[in-house]
Amino acid sequence: MTTATLSGACPECETDLTVPPVVQGETLSCPECLLTLRVEEITDGRLTLEMVEVQLRDWGQ
Ligand SMILES: [Zn+2]
Repeated sequence: MTTATLSGACPECETDLTVPPVVQGETLSCPECLLTLRVEEITDGRLTLEMVEVQLRDWGQ
């Protein structure tokens, strides 16, 4: 038996996410709050997601 999809919850808005198989360290974005989330851990088809702080560089310097 294989798991076709993985699921997790957005740490920010708690939306349940179902995604195609990803690997640890991969990033995806939440469809609700559009945050970038990184896969920290995968346990039994359940994702542990971490918010990625997108550092916006100050190009104007
Ligand atoms: Zn979200």
